[in-house]
Amino acid sequence: MSESQSATVASIRQLRTQIPGPKSRELHAAREKAVSSGFGVTSPIFIDHVEGSMLVDVDDNKLIDFASGIAVTSVGAANPKVAEAVAAQAKSAIHTCFMVTEYQGFVDVCAKLNELTPGDFDKRSALFTSGAEAIENAVKIARAYTGRPAVVVLDHAYHGRTHMTMSMTAKNVPYKQGFGPFATEVYRTPTAYGFRWPNGRENAASEALAMLKEMVLTQIGAGNVACIVAEPIAGEGGFIAPEPGFLKGVQDFAREHGIVFVADEIQTGFARTGTLFASEFENIEPDLITTAKALGGGMPISAVTGRAEIMNAAPVGGIGGTYAGNPVACAAALAAIEVIESDDLVGRAKQIEAVAMPRLESFVQSSPYVGEARGRGAMLAIEFVTDDGITPNADAAKKVAAQANSQGVLTLTCGTFGNVIRLLPPLIISDEELDEGLDVIGEAIDAL
Ligand SMILES: *Cc1c(COP(=O)(O)O)cnc(C)c1O
Repeated sequence: MSESQSATVASIRQLRTQIPGPKSRELHAAREKAVSSGFGVTSPIFIDHVEGSMLVDVDDNKLIDFASGIAVTSVGAANPKVAEAVAAQAKSAIHTCFMVTEYQGFVDVCAKLNELTPGDFDKRSALFTSGAEAIENAVKIARAYTGRPAVVVLDHAYHGRTHMTMSMTAKNVPYKQGFGPFATEVYRTPTAYGFRWPNGRENAASEALAMLKEMVLTQIGAGNVACIVAEPIAGEGGFIAPEPGFLKGVQDFAREHGIVFVADEIQTGFARTGTLFASEFENIEPDLITTAKALGGGMPISAVTGRAEIMNAAPVGGIGGTYAGNPVACAAALAAIEVIESDDLVGRAKQIEAVAMPRLESFVQSSPYVGEARGRGAMLAIEFVTDDGITPNADAAKKVAAQANSQGVLTLTCGTFGNVIRLLPPLIISDEELDEGLDVIGEAIDAL
Protein backbone atom coordinates (compact mmCIF):
# COMPACT_ATOMS: atom_id res chain seq x y z
CA MET A 1 0.00 0.00 0.00
CA SER A 2 1.41 3.38 -0.90
CA GLU A 3 1.14 6.35 1.39
CA SER A 4 -1.48 8.05 -0.73
CA GLN A 5 -3.81 5.06 -0.30
CA SER A 6 -3.51 5.32 3.46
CA ALA A 7 -6.24 7.24 5.27
CA THR A 8 -4.00 7.70 8.28
CA VAL A 9 -1.79 10.73 7.97
CA ALA A 10 1.74 10.16 9.15
CA SER A 11 2.30 13.14 11.40
CA ILE A 12 4.67 11.46 13.83
CA ARG A 13 5.91 8.68 11.61
CA GLN A 14 8.12 9.65 8.73
CA LEU A 15 7.62 7.51 5.61
CA ARG A 16 10.30 8.45 3.08
CA THR A 17 10.33 5.19 1.14
CA GLN A 18 8.42 1.95 1.01
CA ILE A 19 9.07 -0.09 4.14
CA PRO A 20 11.43 -1.89 3.98
CA GLY A 21 13.22 0.72 1.88
CA PRO A 22 15.93 0.16 -0.74
CA LYS A 23 18.86 0.38 1.69
CA SER A 24 17.22 -2.05 4.10
CA ARG A 25 16.51 -4.47 1.26
CA GLU A 26 20.12 -4.32 0.10
CA LEU A 27 21.44 -4.90 3.63
CA HIS A 28 18.99 -7.75 4.14
CA ALA A 29 20.23 -9.47 1.00
CA ALA A 30 23.80 -9.23 2.34
CA ARG A 31 22.61 -10.52 5.71
CA GLU A 32 21.33 -13.67 4.08
CA LYS A 33 24.85 -14.44 2.90
CA ALA A 34 26.35 -14.02 6.39
CA VAL A 35 23.75 -14.96 9.00
CA SER A 36 22.26 -18.36 9.78
CA SER A 37 18.76 -18.55 8.36
CA GLY A 38 17.66 -20.06 11.67
CA PHE A 39 17.32 -16.50 12.98
CA GLY A 40 13.92 -15.16 12.00
CA VAL A 41 13.00 -11.49 11.72
CA THR A 42 9.65 -9.78 12.26
CA SER A 43 10.37 -6.95 9.88
CA PRO A 44 13.49 -6.84 7.67
CA ILE A 45 14.23 -3.19 8.41
CA PHE A 46 17.74 -2.08 9.36
CA ILE A 47 17.64 0.44 12.19
CA ASP A 48 20.15 3.26 12.11
CA HIS A 49 19.36 4.82 15.50
CA VAL A 50 16.59 5.44 18.00
CA GLU A 51 14.99 8.77 18.92
CA GLY A 52 12.92 8.49 22.10
CA SER A 53 10.38 5.82 21.24
CA MET A 54 10.83 6.17 17.46
CA LEU A 55 13.01 3.83 15.40
CA VAL A 56 14.86 5.52 12.55
CA ASP A 57 15.87 3.18 9.73
CA VAL A 58 18.69 3.39 7.20
CA ASP A 59 16.28 4.84 4.61
CA ASP A 60 15.39 7.66 7.02
CA ASN A 61 11.93 6.31 7.81
CA LYS A 62 10.74 6.89 11.37
CA LEU A 63 8.69 4.09 12.87
CA ILE A 64 6.52 4.02 15.98
CA ASP A 65 7.87 1.25 18.18
CA PHE A 66 5.24 -1.07 19.67
CA ALA A 67 7.81 -3.81 20.30
CA SER A 68 10.50 -2.35 22.60
CA GLY A 69 12.95 -4.99 21.39
CA ILE A 70 10.51 -7.54 22.91
CA ALA A 71 9.64 -5.74 26.15
CA VAL A 72 13.21 -4.72 26.89
CA THR A 73 13.50 -0.98 26.29
CA SER A 74 10.84 0.28 28.71
CA VAL A 75 12.97 3.35 29.48
CA GLY A 76 13.63 3.88 25.75
CA ALA A 77 16.24 2.20 23.56
CA ALA A 78 18.61 5.15 23.78
CA ASN A 79 17.93 6.43 27.27
CA PRO A 80 20.57 9.12 28.01
CA LYS A 81 20.91 8.14 31.69
CA VAL A 82 21.46 4.48 30.79
CA ALA A 83 23.88 5.48 28.01
CA GLU A 84 25.88 7.67 30.41
CA ALA A 85 26.06 4.93 33.03
CA VAL A 86 27.20 2.42 30.39
CA ALA A 87 29.87 4.76 29.02
CA ALA A 88 31.21 5.65 32.48
CA GLN A 89 31.38 1.99 33.56
CA ALA A 90 32.98 0.92 30.28
CA LYS A 91 35.74 3.49 30.81
CA SER A 92 36.46 2.19 34.31
CA ALA A 93 36.10 -1.61 33.79
CA ILE A 94 34.21 -3.58 31.16
CA HIS A 95 34.66 -7.02 32.64
CA THR A 96 36.43 -8.57 35.58
CA CYS A 97 34.13 -11.56 36.42
CA PHE A 98 32.25 -11.64 39.72
CA MET A 99 33.44 -15.21 40.34
CA VAL A 100 37.08 -14.06 40.28
CA THR A 101 37.04 -10.70 42.07
CA GLU A 102 34.15 -8.61 43.36
CA TYR A 103 32.58 -5.26 42.38
CA GLN A 104 29.93 -3.05 43.90
CA GLY A 105 27.50 -2.86 40.94
CA PHE A 106 26.64 -6.57 41.19
CA VAL A 107 25.86 -6.25 44.89
CA ASP A 108 23.82 -3.08 44.34
CA VAL A 109 21.62 -4.69 41.67
CA CYS A 110 21.03 -7.71 43.95
CA ALA A 111 20.13 -5.44 46.90
CA LYS A 112 17.76 -3.43 44.72
CA LEU A 113 16.04 -6.60 43.48
CA ASN A 114 15.70 -7.90 47.04
CA GLU A 115 14.11 -4.61 48.06
CA LEU A 116 11.75 -4.16 45.10
CA THR A 117 10.37 -7.66 44.47
CA PRO A 118 7.17 -8.73 46.25
CA GLY A 119 7.45 -10.59 49.55
CA ASP A 120 8.41 -9.23 52.95
CA PHE A 121 11.00 -11.88 53.77
CA ASP A 122 14.78 -12.22 53.80
CA LYS A 123 15.93 -12.46 50.17
CA ARG A 124 19.02 -13.07 48.10
CA SER A 125 19.60 -12.58 44.37
CA ALA A 126 21.89 -14.04 41.73
CA LEU A 127 22.62 -12.34 38.41
CA PHE A 128 22.99 -13.93 35.00
CA THR A 129 22.93 -12.77 31.38
CA SER A 130 19.84 -14.00 29.51
CA GLY A 131 16.28 -14.73 30.58
CA ALA A 132 16.66 -18.42 29.75
CA GLU A 133 19.72 -18.58 31.99
CA ALA A 134 17.71 -17.13 34.88
CA ILE A 135 15.04 -19.83 34.42
CA GLU A 136 17.68 -22.58 34.14
CA ASN A 137 19.16 -21.39 37.42
CA ALA A 138 15.80 -21.05 39.17
CA VAL A 139 15.21 -24.72 38.37
CA LYS A 140 18.69 -25.71 39.55
CA ILE A 141 18.22 -23.79 42.80
CA ALA A 142 14.73 -25.24 43.41
CA ARG A 143 16.05 -28.76 42.82
CA ALA A 144 19.03 -28.22 45.13
CA TYR A 145 16.72 -26.84 47.84
CA THR A 146 14.04 -29.53 47.64
CA GLY A 147 16.12 -32.50 46.53
CA ARG A 148 13.29 -33.23 44.08
CA PRO A 149 13.42 -33.59 40.27
CA ALA A 150 10.07 -32.56 38.73
CA VAL A 151 9.24 -29.19 37.18
CA VAL A 152 5.62 -28.21 36.54
CA VAL A 153 4.82 -25.68 33.81
CA LEU A 154 1.69 -24.37 32.09
CA ASP A 155 0.12 -24.54 28.66
CA HIS A 156 1.12 -21.56 26.47
CA ALA A 157 4.27 -21.08 28.55
CA TYR A 158 7.41 -19.55 27.12
CA HIS A 159 10.60 -19.81 29.15
CA GLY A 160 13.41 -19.66 26.58
CA ARG A 161 15.45 -21.44 23.94
CA THR A 162 18.12 -23.36 25.86
CA HIS A 163 17.67 -27.10 26.37
CA MET A 164 15.85 -26.97 29.72
CA THR A 165 13.84 -23.84 28.96
CA MET A 166 12.89 -25.06 25.47
CA SER A 167 11.58 -28.19 27.16
CA MET A 168 9.55 -25.97 29.51
CA THR A 169 8.21 -23.89 26.61
CA ALA A 170 4.85 -25.08 25.31
CA LYS A 171 4.84 -24.24 21.62
CA ASN A 172 6.56 -26.59 19.23
CA VAL A 173 7.03 -24.65 15.98
CA PRO A 174 9.40 -22.84 15.81
CA TYR A 175 10.91 -23.18 19.29
CA LYS A 176 11.27 -26.96 19.56
CA GLN A 177 10.83 -28.43 16.10
CA GLY A 178 13.81 -30.63 15.25
CA PHE A 179 15.60 -29.86 18.54
CA GLY A 180 14.58 -32.85 20.63
CA PRO A 181 14.93 -34.99 22.64
CA PHE A 182 13.87 -32.67 25.43
CA ALA A 183 14.73 -32.54 29.12
CA THR A 184 12.92 -35.06 31.28
CA GLU A 185 10.83 -34.38 34.39
CA VAL A 186 8.92 -31.47 32.85
CA TYR A 187 5.14 -31.74 33.29
CA ARG A 188 2.55 -29.45 31.70
CA THR A 189 -0.96 -28.56 32.79
CA PRO A 190 -3.58 -26.07 31.49
CA THR A 191 -3.55 -22.42 32.47
CA ALA A 192 -6.80 -20.55 33.23
CA TYR A 193 -7.21 -19.10 29.73
CA GLY A 194 -10.61 -17.42 30.04
CA PHE A 195 -11.27 -16.72 26.38
CA ARG A 196 -10.77 -20.36 25.36
CA TRP A 197 -11.86 -22.25 28.50
CA PRO A 198 -14.23 -25.03 27.35
CA ASN A 199 -16.64 -24.65 30.29
CA GLY A 200 -16.71 -20.87 30.25
CA ARG A 201 -14.49 -18.14 31.62
CA GLU A 202 -16.08 -18.23 35.08
CA ASN A 203 -14.95 -21.84 35.57
CA ALA A 204 -11.41 -21.46 34.23
CA ALA A 205 -9.58 -20.63 37.48
CA SER A 206 -11.12 -23.36 39.62
CA GLU A 207 -11.02 -26.08 36.95
CA ALA A 208 -7.45 -25.32 35.84
CA LEU A 209 -6.35 -25.36 39.48
CA ALA A 210 -8.08 -28.70 40.06
CA MET A 211 -6.31 -30.15 37.01
CA LEU A 212 -2.93 -28.92 38.22
CA LYS A 213 -3.50 -30.40 41.67
CA GLU A 214 -4.64 -33.73 40.24
CA MET A 215 -1.62 -33.95 37.96
CA VAL A 216 0.80 -33.17 40.78
CA LEU A 217 -0.86 -35.48 43.30
CA THR A 218 -1.65 -38.46 41.06
CA GLN A 219 0.77 -38.44 38.12
CA ILE A 220 3.96 -36.98 39.59
CA GLY A 221 3.51 -37.21 43.35
CA ALA A 222 3.78 -33.92 45.25
CA GLY A 223 6.93 -35.16 47.02
CA ASN A 224 8.71 -35.32 43.66
CA VAL A 225 7.99 -31.75 42.55
CA ALA A 226 10.80 -29.22 42.94
CA CYS A 227 8.98 -26.23 41.49
CA ILE A 228 5.99 -24.86 39.66
CA VAL A 229 7.02 -22.16 37.17
CA ALA A 230 4.39 -19.72 35.88
CA GLU A 231 4.35 -16.45 33.97
CA PRO A 232 1.91 -14.05 35.69
CA ILE A 233 0.86 -13.09 32.16
CA ALA A 234 1.92 -15.59 29.49
CA GLY A 235 3.97 -13.54 27.02
CA GLU A 236 4.93 -15.34 23.82
CA GLY A 237 1.99 -17.69 24.40
CA GLY A 238 -0.49 -14.90 23.68
CA PHE A 239 -0.59 -12.33 26.51
CA ILE A 240 -2.84 -14.61 28.51
CA ALA A 241 -3.53 -13.33 32.01
CA PRO A 242 -4.81 -16.36 33.94
CA GLU A 243 -8.31 -15.81 35.35
CA PRO A 244 -8.27 -14.19 38.83
CA GLY A 245 -7.45 -16.51 41.70
CA PHE A 246 -5.67 -19.19 39.65
CA LEU A 247 -2.12 -18.10 40.46
CA LYS A 248 -2.94 -17.51 44.12
CA GLY A 249 -4.41 -21.02 44.24
CA VAL A 250 -1.25 -22.44 42.65
CA GLN A 251 0.90 -20.62 45.19
CA ASP A 252 -1.15 -21.89 48.15
CA PHE A 253 -1.02 -25.45 46.82
CA ALA A 254 2.76 -25.21 46.28
CA ARG A 255 3.26 -23.96 49.87
CA GLU A 256 1.15 -26.79 51.25
CA HIS A 257 3.43 -29.36 49.57
CA GLY A 258 6.87 -27.80 50.00
CA ILE A 259 7.05 -26.99 46.29
CA VAL A 260 8.99 -23.86 45.24
CA PHE A 261 6.67 -21.43 43.43
CA VAL A 262 8.55 -19.52 40.71
CA ALA A 263 7.09 -16.51 38.90
CA ASP A 264 8.72 -15.91 35.53
CA GLU A 265 8.51 -12.10 35.39
CA ILE A 266 11.04 -11.80 32.59
CA GLN A 267 8.49 -10.14 30.30
CA THR A 268 6.01 -8.78 32.87
CA GLY A 269 8.53 -7.32 35.30
CA PHE A 270 9.73 -3.78 35.98
CA ALA A 271 6.62 -1.63 35.51
CA ARG A 272 5.43 -3.17 32.24
CA THR A 273 2.00 -4.26 33.53
CA GLY A 274 1.18 -1.18 35.63
CA THR A 275 2.64 -2.55 38.84
CA LEU A 276 6.37 -2.93 39.36
CA PHE A 277 5.84 -6.70 39.16
CA ALA A 278 2.75 -8.46 37.81
CA SER A 279 2.78 -10.68 40.93
CA GLU A 280 1.65 -7.66 42.97
CA PHE A 281 -1.58 -7.39 40.98
CA GLU A 282 -2.23 -11.11 41.51
CA ASN A 283 -1.56 -10.75 45.23
CA ILE A 284 1.10 -13.45 45.13
CA GLU A 285 4.51 -13.56 46.77
CA PRO A 286 6.48 -16.11 44.76
CA ASP A 287 9.34 -17.96 46.46
CA LEU A 288 11.54 -17.12 43.48
CA ILE A 289 11.13 -14.46 40.78
CA THR A 290 13.06 -14.40 37.52
CA THR A 291 13.70 -11.07 35.79
CA ALA A 292 15.55 -9.97 32.65
CA LYS A 293 14.32 -7.95 29.63
CA ALA A 294 13.44 -4.48 31.08
CA LEU A 295 15.86 -4.94 34.00
CA GLY A 296 18.93 -3.87 32.03
CA GLY A 297 17.55 -0.92 30.08
CA GLY A 298 18.69 -2.71 26.91
CA MET A 299 21.86 -4.35 28.24
CA PRO A 300 21.86 -8.15 28.72
CA ILE A 301 21.30 -8.98 32.38
CA SER A 302 18.95 -11.35 34.21
CA ALA A 303 18.33 -12.37 37.78
CA VAL A 304 16.82 -14.88 40.16
CA THR A 305 15.55 -13.33 43.40
CA GLY A 306 13.86 -15.06 46.29
CA ARG A 307 13.77 -16.50 49.77
CA ALA A 308 17.26 -16.53 51.29
CA GLU A 309 17.05 -20.16 52.43
CA ILE A 310 16.17 -21.32 48.90
CA MET A 311 18.68 -19.04 47.13
CA ASN A 312 21.44 -20.23 49.45
CA ALA A 313 20.71 -23.92 48.82
CA ALA A 314 22.92 -24.14 45.74
CA PRO A 315 26.41 -25.34 46.68
CA VAL A 316 29.21 -22.73 46.58
CA GLY A 317 30.41 -22.49 42.98
CA GLY A 318 27.29 -24.33 41.77
CA ILE A 319 25.75 -21.32 40.07
CA GLY A 320 27.39 -18.49 38.17
CA GLY A 321 28.70 -17.73 34.71
CA THR A 322 31.63 -15.92 33.14
CA TYR A 323 29.57 -12.93 32.06
CA ALA A 324 26.93 -13.19 34.81
CA GLY A 325 26.07 -9.71 36.09
CA ASN A 326 28.64 -8.00 33.86
CA PRO A 327 29.71 -4.61 35.32
CA VAL A 328 28.45 -2.59 32.34
CA ALA A 329 25.11 -4.41 32.41
CA CYS A 330 24.86 -3.81 36.18
CA ALA A 331 25.49 -0.07 35.68
CA ALA A 332 22.78 -0.03 33.00
CA ALA A 333 20.35 -1.87 35.28
CA LEU A 334 20.91 0.54 38.17
CA ALA A 335 20.35 3.49 35.83
CA ALA A 336 17.23 1.91 34.29
CA ILE A 337 15.73 1.17 37.71
CA GLU A 338 16.42 4.76 38.75
CA VAL A 339 14.58 6.05 35.66
CA ILE A 340 11.65 3.67 36.28
CA GLU A 341 11.37 5.04 39.82
CA SER A 342 12.05 8.74 39.20
CA ASP A 343 9.85 8.99 36.09
CA ASP A 344 7.05 6.89 37.66
CA LEU A 345 6.93 4.46 34.74
CA VAL A 346 4.56 2.27 36.76
CA GLY A 347 2.08 5.15 36.62
CA ARG A 348 2.86 5.69 32.95
CA ALA A 349 2.11 2.03 32.17
CA LYS A 350 -1.32 2.52 33.77
CA GLN A 351 -1.91 5.64 31.65
CA ILE A 352 -0.93 3.72 28.52
CA GLU A 353 -3.57 1.12 29.40
CA ALA A 354 -6.12 3.91 29.93
CA VAL A 355 -5.40 5.33 26.47
CA ALA A 356 -4.96 2.08 24.53
CA MET A 357 -7.43 -0.36 26.10
CA PRO A 358 -10.60 1.52 25.04
CA ARG A 359 -9.23 1.65 21.50
CA LEU A 360 -8.55 -2.10 21.51
CA GLU A 361 -12.04 -2.73 22.94
CA SER A 362 -13.47 -0.66 20.10
CA PHE A 363 -11.76 -3.02 17.62
CA VAL A 364 -13.57 -5.94 19.29
CA GLN A 365 -16.86 -4.07 18.80
CA SER A 366 -16.19 -3.00 15.22
CA SER A 367 -14.55 -6.10 13.74
CA PRO A 368 -15.83 -9.68 13.64
CA TYR A 369 -12.19 -10.78 13.47
CA VAL A 370 -11.10 -9.38 16.83
CA GLY A 371 -12.28 -11.80 19.51
CA GLU A 372 -10.79 -10.27 22.61
CA ALA A 373 -8.71 -7.35 23.87
CA ARG A 374 -6.73 -8.10 26.98
CA GLY A 375 -3.65 -7.46 29.09
CA ARG A 376 -2.61 -4.90 31.65
CA GLY A 377 -0.57 -1.73 31.67
CA ALA A 378 1.56 -1.51 28.55
CA MET A 379 1.35 -5.27 27.90
CA LEU A 380 -1.81 -5.36 25.78
CA ALA A 381 -3.04 -7.59 22.98
CA ILE A 382 -5.87 -8.40 20.62
CA GLU A 383 -6.69 -11.97 19.65
CA PHE A 384 -7.88 -12.59 16.10
CA VAL A 385 -10.61 -15.12 15.27
CA THR A 386 -12.58 -16.15 12.21
CA ASP A 387 -16.17 -14.95 11.84
CA ASP A 388 -17.40 -17.80 14.05
CA GLY A 389 -15.92 -15.73 16.90
CA ILE A 390 -13.59 -18.38 18.32
CA THR A 391 -11.47 -20.24 15.73
CA PRO A 392 -7.92 -18.81 15.84
CA ASN A 393 -7.20 -16.60 12.81
CA ALA A 394 -3.44 -16.35 12.40
CA ASP A 395 -3.85 -15.07 8.87
CA ALA A 396 -5.68 -11.95 10.08
CA ALA A 397 -3.07 -11.24 12.75
CA LYS A 398 -0.30 -11.64 10.19
CA LYS A 399 -2.03 -9.33 7.70
CA VAL A 400 -2.68 -6.61 10.27
CA ALA A 401 0.89 -6.77 11.62
CA ALA A 402 2.36 -6.70 8.10
CA GLN A 403 0.15 -3.78 7.09
CA ALA A 404 1.00 -1.85 10.27
CA ASN A 405 4.72 -2.54 9.80
CA SER A 406 4.57 -1.37 6.19
CA GLN A 407 2.90 1.83 7.44
CA GLY A 408 5.65 2.51 9.98
CA VAL A 409 4.21 0.93 13.14
CA LEU A 410 6.34 -1.91 14.40
CA THR A 411 4.17 -4.57 16.06
CA LEU A 412 4.79 -8.17 17.04
CA THR A 413 2.50 -11.15 16.78
CA CYS A 414 2.45 -13.91 19.36
CA GLY A 415 0.27 -16.71 20.66
CA THR A 416 0.28 -20.49 20.53
CA PHE A 417 -1.92 -20.17 17.44
CA GLY A 418 -0.02 -17.15 16.07
CA ASN A 419 -3.26 -15.15 16.11
CA VAL A 420 -2.42 -12.40 18.61
CA ILE A 421 -1.01 -8.92 18.03
CA ARG A 422 0.71 -7.55 21.07
CA LEU A 423 1.50 -4.01 22.06
CA LEU A 424 4.71 -3.50 24.00
CA PRO A 425 5.51 0.18 23.56
CA PRO A 426 8.39 1.77 25.44
CA LEU A 427 6.89 3.26 28.62
CA ILE A 428 8.23 6.65 27.55
CA ILE A 429 5.96 6.71 24.47
CA SER A 430 3.78 9.83 24.16
CA ASP A 431 -0.03 9.68 23.95
CA GLU A 432 0.22 11.10 20.42
CA GLU A 433 2.60 8.36 19.27
CA LEU A 434 0.38 5.76 20.91
CA ASP A 435 -2.74 7.15 19.26
CA GLU A 436 -1.20 7.35 15.80
CA GLY A 437 0.07 3.79 16.10
CA LEU A 438 -3.39 2.59 17.14
CA ASP A 439 -4.97 4.52 14.24
CA VAL A 440 -2.77 2.56 11.85
CA ILE A 441 -3.66 -0.76 13.48
CA GLY A 442 -7.37 0.15 13.42
CA GLU A 443 -7.17 0.95 9.75
CA ALA A 444 -5.43 -2.37 9.03
CA ILE A 445 -8.20 -4.20 10.93
CA ASP A 446 -10.88 -2.36 8.93
CA ALA A 447 -9.18 -3.52 5.72
CA LEU A 448 -9.47 -7.24 6.66
C1 LIG B 1 11.91 -13.65 26.77
C2 LIG B 1 11.48 -14.57 27.84
C3 LIG B 1 12.34 -15.57 28.34
C4 LIG B 1 13.70 -15.85 27.74
O1 LIG B 1 14.55 -14.75 27.81
P1 LIG B 1 15.87 -14.71 26.86
O2 LIG B 1 16.60 -13.51 27.35
O3 LIG B 1 15.38 -14.58 25.47
O4 LIG B 1 16.60 -15.97 27.10
C5 LIG B 1 11.88 -16.35 29.38
N1 LIG B 1 10.67 -16.16 29.92
C6 LIG B 1 9.82 -15.21 29.48
C7 LIG B 1 8.50 -15.03 30.13
C8 LIG B 1 10.20 -14.39 28.41
O5 LIG B 1 9.35 -13.48 27.94
